[in-house]
Amino acid sequence: MDRERIIKEIAELSEKLNRYQYEYYVLSRPSVSDAEYDRLFDRLVALEKQYPDLAQPDSPTQKVGSDLSQTFPEFTHTIPVLSLDKAYTFSEIKEWIVKTEKNAKEALSFVVEEKIDGASIVLYYKDGLLVRAVTRGNGFVGNDITGNVKTIRAVPLKLHEPYTLTVRGEIFLPKKYFSEINAKLDGLYANPRNLASGTLRRVKSSEVSLVPLDIFIYEGFAGDFTSTHIEILETCEKLGFKLNNTLGIFSNAKDLSGIAKNHPTWSTGRIDDIKSFIEHETEKRKDLEYEIDGLVIKVNEIPSRDILGYTGHHPRWAIAFKFESPEGVTKVKKIEVQIGRTGRATPVARVEPVHISGSVITNVTLHNQEYIDMLELGEGDVIVVSKRGDVIPSCEYVVEHYAEHIWKFPVQCPSCSANLEKIGAHHFCTNDHCEAKILGRLFFFAGKGQMDIENLGPETIYFLYKKNLVKNLCDIYTFQPDALTGEQGFGEKKIQLIKQGIEKSKQQPYKIVLQSLGIPDLGPKASELLIDAGYTSMDKLLAMVDAGDPSPLVSIPGIGDKTAQTIINELSKPQIRNHIAGLRKAGLNFKAKKEEQPDVEQVCIGQAWCVTGSFERFKPRELSMEEVKKRGGNVTSSVSSKTTHLLAGPGAGSKLQKAQELGIKIVNEAEFIEMLKLE
Ligand code: NAD
Repeated sequence: MDRERIIKEIAELSEKLNRYQYEYYVLSRPSVSDAEYDRLFDRLVALEKQYPDLAQPDSPTQKVGSDLSQTFPEFTHTIPVLSLDKAYTFSEIKEWIVKTEKNAKEALSFVVEEKIDGASIVLYYKDGLLVRAVTRGNGFVGNDITGNVKTIRAVPLKLHEPYTLTVRGEIFLPKKYFSEINAKLDGLYANPRNLASGTLRRVKSSEVSLVPLDIFIYEGFAGDFTSTHIEILETCEKLGFKLNNTLGIFSNAKDLSGIAKNHPTWSTGRIDDIKSFIEHETEKRKDLEYEIDGLVIKVNEIPSRDILGYTGHHPRWAIAFKFESPEGVTKVKKIEVQIGRTGRATPVARVEPVHISGSVITNVTLHNQEYIDMLELGEGDVIVVSKRGDVIPSCEYVVEHYAEHIWKFPVQCPSCSANLEKIGAHHFCTNDHCEAKILGRLFFFAGKGQMDIENLGPETIYFLYKKNLVKNLCDIYTFQPDALTGEQGFGEKKIQLIKQGIEKSKQQPYKIVLQSLGIPDLGPKASELLIDAGYTSMDKLLAMVDAGDPSPLVSIPGIGDKTAQTIINELSKPQIRNHIAGLRKAGLNFKAKKEEQPDVEQVCIGQAWCVTGSFERFKPRELSMEEVKKRGGNVTSSVSSKTTHLLAGPGAGSKLQKAQELGIKIVNEAEFIEMLKLE
């Protein structure tokens, strides 16, 4: 990029960010989402890092977003009232902790607080009396809104002792009042934060008093406040300030048992426990009576805070862990077509990296041409991306159109150049020899949830394919891994592991083998339905297919006409029959265990099981739940009050915590094997 363009982009970004800050802080009526604001801010930070000589001293990244308005008198703060640096993942927090301890030259303790999403306020007290309430302003000068703040009941006008001090806090509107009050204001505000901040800027205090605003105090400053943040908070509480009950304190070096005893609602632990504290707080966020947009991690020791100091924008002794919105804003760099194992062509947007729900997104599915037409999307456009649950991120809508025309599907398959065919809403490559399709089938077959062949990931398969060693599913079981000796990245150990992975996969039960064939519409659910309906072996299934009548399949609840016909068509193809024959010869299971040993003791009747973590014996872990079902038990995908047992292995996630909270029986792998009488 030439310098002229960079200078122009920096100027445009600065102009936009300054305008958005004014709308957000002063008018309390932002015109863009926080995600869009953060995207532009992060872009400006990145440009200034890459081209430091072009960074402007008055850049929005170098100062606090100002809420100063002409309506109220100005007051110069006696303490720095800055913003916070931010992180989105625990590993970023961990890195920050390491860096901070290194700079402070000692092992520290860290306090974690909820980051209240409201309006920032600084309260000045003299001899125990509230003398001034001032907005954050530009970090150095704020607006004096004392009259308005005095109407808030939780703000003490007189302290329990005649102390002189300054405190920082966040004024907020509890969630439950928002809808009703906002309705009276004709829906003027988008959320409780904007309503709280807008209310504080009313000229008449009598109007402010009608809104039930509340406050939490989170910092205190006084000449004799020189020990720890925790002690300062304790003093503030004694003086009559309202603190938030949720707080965590973590240290590897200090004994925190005294703190835990004095404050039953506070959590204590070692530094690594911050991760689970964050996870727990994130989970419980939706149930809180007020809105939070993250957590704040702060150094506890005041002398170390003094050593660490401030930038023009934030203190170096604190960082915000910001909750990811399930949405993000980013720019489409390019749109490419991906060919899947069934030949379906999916347009995928390659986007500028964007943080969403804890991961960095660079690819976004665009489904099909109709979807793209509906969005009127082209390369270069700025889009909102969403990621809900574990699904692949997709494009919600276009924020700004920059493309000259809507993107259109190419005529040919990008992998094999055969013409793409439009069938229904989707385009397909119908060439059976298309490399992308073959590789897609191989990746799928060996992947997790299917045959789960350890050490045979996509990269290795691609290498074997290019070496002409593995060209179809059967080749996986007939090629000689020793042929890889001498190839870069394939030492003796790796070759042994590949052999072991392949051998072990032969133990996979019939149901997994069936769903791994990659036959359209024959996924885990349909495979299970077929087996339950009596098609307990490949021979039985093929005999039905050869009879050519789909009605026995259609009569199975859960299998529709289309699925039945697809299964019959696919299993009739000579190529698929050849694969089945080859895999059978390799020794794979083509008979369900059910058929071999119908009588297992029904020890799980009346139980509802859920599973979390990873296991030695059950790979994929869903196999453990198959055993439960065989023994008459029920299986749930999430932990609820109906769950009776949780099978938990290493790496267990939030399900374990929830089960502990609900008092559900937690069982490890060895206990499970014993309880279910599995040899
Ligand atoms: P911030 O998100 O960087 O956080 C700093 C603030 O957190 C502090 O000033 C303080 O008021 C508050 N806070 C709450 N609880 C706290 C606690 N326990 N300890 C310490 N501080 C606590 O705030 P910011 O600099 O005001 O705003 C930046 C963010 O605001 C942006 O990332 C963006 O999401 C949003 N914003 C949006 C727009 C828009 O147009 N949509 C414009 C400007 C800013």
